[in-house]
Amino acid sequence: MSKLERTLILVKPDGVERGLVGEVIRRFESRGLRLCGLKIVRPEKALVETHYAEHAGKPFYDALVDYLLSGPVVAMALEGENAIKACRATMGVTNAADAAPGTIRGDYALSIEKNIVHGSADAESASRELAVWFGAGEMV
Ligand code: UDP
Ligand code: MG
Repeated sequence: MSKLERTLILVKPDGVERGLVGEVIRRFESRGLRLCGLKIVRPEKALVETHYAEHAGKPFYDALVDYLLSGPVVAMALEGENAIKACRATMGVTNAADAAPGTIRGDYALSIEKNIVHGSADAESASRELAVWFGAGEMV
């Protein structure tokens, strides 16, 4: 079943630092996804903690929060048929060392920690995360 969805994608600080913002956007747009929100931000710690609340208490959590606070982040809302699953596939798996060539992580990263992009995992996360990063009126 195809469904029109919106999802949150972040270009994490390593992706911004390495000049990969345009490349990441290009890959999603080429796939057929439409940009409906876009901004560059230095997030507050509280915002990052809310975004990654599901990982609170895990061994990598503190380092993950510090990583998201280490530089500007590009946040985008993307819309399309089955956008959530499609974006995850275009990103590649979490551990970039295992990510297939041709995916963003598989082409631009090697580690499980610094892996260039975030993408919402499911519909519930997407709607929660979009509300964390975008205020009312910030999406078209
Ligand atoms: N992460 C990490 N160590 C781990 C697992 C995850 O540093 O063992 C980081 C990594 O940056 C990952 C993020 O935490 O992208 C969120 O983890 P999740 O399992 O939700 O992966 P994702 O949804 O980003 O693929
Ligand atoms: Mg996740």
